[in-house]
Amino acid sequence: MALAPPPPRVLIFPLPLQGPVNSMLKLSELLCLGGLHVTFLVTDHIDARLRRYSNVQSRFRSHPGFRLQAISDGLPENHPRGDKFLEVFESMKVHTKPLFKELLQSGGISCVIADGGLGFPLDVAEEVGIPLFIVRTISAACLWVFFRLPQLIQSGELPFTGDDDLDVMVKSVPGMERYLRRRDLPSFCRSGNVADPNIELYKCESTNNPRATGLILNTFEELESPILSQMRGVCPNIYTIGPLHAHLKAKLAATGTSLPDFSNSLWEEDRFCLVWLDDQPPKSVLYVSFGSLATVTKDQLMEFWHGLVNSGQRFLWVIRQDSVAGEGQVPMELLQGSKERGCIVNWAPQEEVLAHPAVGGFLTHSGWNSTLESVYEGVPMICWPYFLDQQVNSRLVEEEWKLGFDMKDTCDRSVIEKTVRNLMEVRKDEFQRNAAQMACSAKTSLGEGGSSSSHLERLIQDIKAKSVV
Ligand code: UDP
Repeated sequence: MALAPPPPRVLIFPLPLQGPVNSMLKLSELLCLGGLHVTFLVTDHIDARLRRYSNVQSRFRSHPGFRLQAISDGLPENHPRGDKFLEVFESMKVHTKPLFKELLQSGGISCVIADGGLGFPLDVAEEVGIPLFIVRTISAACLWVFFRLPQLIQSGELPFTGDDDLDVMVKSVPGMERYLRRRDLPSFCRSGNVADPNIELYKCESTNNPRATGLILNTFEELESPILSQMRGVCPNIYTIGPLHAHLKAKLAATGTSLPDFSNSLWEEDRFCLVWLDDQPPKSVLYVSFGSLATVTKDQLMEFWHGLVNSGQRFLWVIRQDSVAGEGQVPMELLQGSKERGCIVNWAPQEEVLAHPAVGGFLTHSGWNSTLESVYEGVPMICWPYFLDQQVNSRLVEEEWKLGFDMKDTCDRSVIEKTVRNLMEVRKDEFQRNAAQMACSAKTSLGEGGSSSSHLERLIQDIKAKSVV
């Protein structure tokens, strides 16, 4: 009797950044549960951090078809990477592309899922003849803005600069005309230059994405439906399977598997903050974190600190060691002065923090993972976007979903104090209600027959059907 062929092996290639690595690991595990084999390809730099700080290796032991594999990004070990990611992209285009091609040509890979932000995997997969699905770990809203960059330029809405009137409404992004202002476009749009390297980088999205076998998005239909229906006019085969972090938990729970301790962190987590949270009253704490890339100046840090302390609210604040420009570490006065109502850590187990009953609000940089994690846990937000998609996401939080405030382009202690009070006290019930409703629709999307759950099933079937042997 002939042996059954092994399942298709999918190569998953995330952008070398915390957010994408985190959500793509969740996708990997979902695909393993769906009966596929997965090779998770990361740069040497990410590979070293994952092996050091995360529990990826032990967690994937129950999936023998999973492999973690590293590839060079062509940069020296001491390159800062993090906030210089355009340099990382450039280097990968030159150095990683040929290595990636060799890898695909060496056989064994049936299908590729690559972050569309990398660009070159699509060309290579087409050349080698392997189906490729693009995955994006930003919001559909931001990707849709990228899709519309050519029209924004044609209509003359781009370029503009930060000195122009940023409250002018933007008309060339259908589905978002009601609320999108210049200031809500990705920050690079303010460069005043249509030849800006970022505009160049993202201008081809509307032609590149439809070339792929399909587009996988970490979102759910009910969250971004007006935008998704516009996008499908350009790129018909879209799989919305988010929020990925919760989707995985839901699938594990449905199969009766006990929930493992997830950690995909590239920094060491300080779990003491969970103990601190245990001692705080329900929904009383504002969680403050600006993600893995954003940096602040010392002045901005002090504005936030005064704003937080003056608001009289409790807060749990993540200040990454490398996040304060020009400072080696968190200023001492800030640590001392926060003791009464605050807790400051280097890096937190964020999903657990947001799920903790003591947390009642999230002051966030509006990274897409953070936004989805907050939406899923029903935690209202104050947004202080740093760059790129965050500028778009924060507008949706305030205007489209009514889940909090968008504080972009201001960093003033009195505004911070007032906004924190508004979220945590004055309009608390309203935001808690809206957030609970949205969290409920996120949960429904992951349940049996829900939108994200059905899209994931379709994705797994399509991978199996289209894989090359
Ligand atoms: N995160 C975390 N601990 C922290 C801060 C962030 O685990 O102290 C995680 C967070 O849960 C999210 C990711 O890091 O999954 C950040 O991704 P996001 O897209 O929000 O922002 P980025 O870091 O890419 O700017």
